[in-house]
Amino acid sequence: MLLKTKGKPFGVKDPIVGRITFSPEYDGEILIVKDCFPDDVSQYAAVLTNICVDRFTSKTGVYEVPEFEHLSNGDIVVVNPDGVINTQYRIHSTHNFLLFTERCNSNCLMCSQPPKDREDTSYFYRIYSQLIRLIPKDCREIGITGGEPTLMGARFFDLLEQIQEHLTATEVHCLTNGRTFAWNNIARKLGRMSFEKLMLGIPIYSDFSLMHDYIVQAKGAFDQTIKGLYNLARYNVRIELRIVLHKPTLPRLMKLSKFIYKNLPFVEHIAFMGLENQGYTPHNIDKLWIDPVEYGEDLKKAMTYLSEHGMNVSLYNAQLCVTPEEIWQFSRRSISDWKNVYLNECENCSKKIECGGFFSSNVSRHSLGIRAID
Ligand code: SF4
Repeated sequence: MLLKTKGKPFGVKDPIVGRITFSPEYDGEILIVKDCFPDDVSQYAAVLTNICVDRFTSKTGVYEVPEFEHLSNGDIVVVNPDGVINTQYRIHSTHNFLLFTERCNSNCLMCSQPPKDREDTSYFYRIYSQLIRLIPKDCREIGITGGEPTLMGARFFDLLEQIQEHLTATEVHCLTNGRTFAWNNIARKLGRMSFEKLMLGIPIYSDFSLMHDYIVQAKGAFDQTIKGLYNLARYNVRIELRIVLHKPTLPRLMKLSKFIYKNLPFVEHIAFMGLENQGYTPHNIDKLWIDPVEYGEDLKKAMTYLSEHGMNVSLYNAQLCVTPEEIWQFSRRSISDWKNVYLNECENCSKKIECGGFFSSNVSRHSLGIRAID
């Protein structure tokens, strides 16, 4: 799915954030016009069009844009000075997320979005400060991701406050490695927001500290994350644990489940997640890949243990035909719509509607056991 397009910019000095409208009858700050240019476009912050700029059409905007089919009235885009138009919020999707920064203090072996060490928080802060107030109030859920979002520092809290104030009914899910919350004052600050719609998704990959540190490629990360989890629990911040299923996590999966039950019983949800073949993963594939048909029984035991002990578990990014039937009940269609695909084999499968399918990046790397279910 297209989330970015590009044309020739005219007069765009700074990024322009606005809602798309194809017609004046819809609210919007950015008008899309195809083929002919209207007389008066003065009410819009920018115009996007497929035609060429000339002396009659010289309004701030982007010209000769090749395609608009991926956009709808109400989508929110950022028009950049270089002519790139990024879709930031899709009105018909429940998989919208705000990337707060590409910086990270970990460097996980399977990171799907490898960190970039450059100062980008000023840019994202400026964009999201404008964008959040444009998101419809009936937005059901929104994600916050990175990099490590808490590295935004004070701006992290400022943006959270904007979301809390503007999107009062929206479920907010923030992916963080949790290490920042090892500092009690940071966890306390989050707790004092009383942001009940916010849940933090924090990865834990092993009950054995050195293995967790190896997977996230950061010495001391396990201790910081555990400390952070306890601090967050102290201030009643809602927590989801995330466990990616790959070669290094699987040998101790049952031990990890027991560790969670005994030491972290306050977490609200535990997500077991199939591997995405994106970012660093293809480069580390020999260290990471294990066919889901090979770990099905271990996964069943680990999930069943937690479930039978009253904990709330889910299975993300999994294909039902290679998952033991006893844990199908935990499987969720979790892959973002813009990167969720199915194989030809799936066309004849009676369970396709319930099945999580594949990341588009996993078409070249998937289980050898995929078979349509009658
Ligand atoms: S054949 Fe495809 S749709 Fe059916 S269970 Fe397997 S992966 Fe899912």
